[in-house]
Amino acid sequence: MLRGRQRYAKKIQQNSSDSVSDLVSEQFPQVSDISVRIIYHGNGANSVLMVRTVNFFSSSSASFHMHCIRKECTNGGFDLAPKIKDLIGKHKKTAKGKMECGGGVSSASCRAPISYEIAVLYRKCS
Ligand SMILES: [Zn+2]
Repeated sequence: MLRGRQRYAKKIQQNSSDSVSDLVSEQFPQVSDISVRIIYHGNGANSVLMVRTVNFFSSSSASFHMHCIRKECTNGGFDLAPKIKDLIGKHKKTAKGKMECGGGVSSASCRAPISYEIAVLYRKCS
């Protein structure tokens, strides 16, 4: 009788440094770096809780998920990947916009507001 394929009882779940996510250079070979500025707002349009600037280089992992400022927020954060893809797809240099957190705090939705500014620097030799 033939033996079936052995099933793996345990899935290997390790936080490997060899992440499966692509590098910026693989996803966007024409890009040299991407600068993202996030302004976390409080209640009220002029309220600023924190400003954060994150730079992505061609050797960085192409993961553009920004955390929510609220520690108690679950499944929150801001995924800027679609905005960045759109921007690079149109070969534009900068984009600005606003987003609200889609996560939840207790049983309510978080909706923490941010403003973002994305600046893409393209390689010259293309
Ligand atoms: Zn949140």
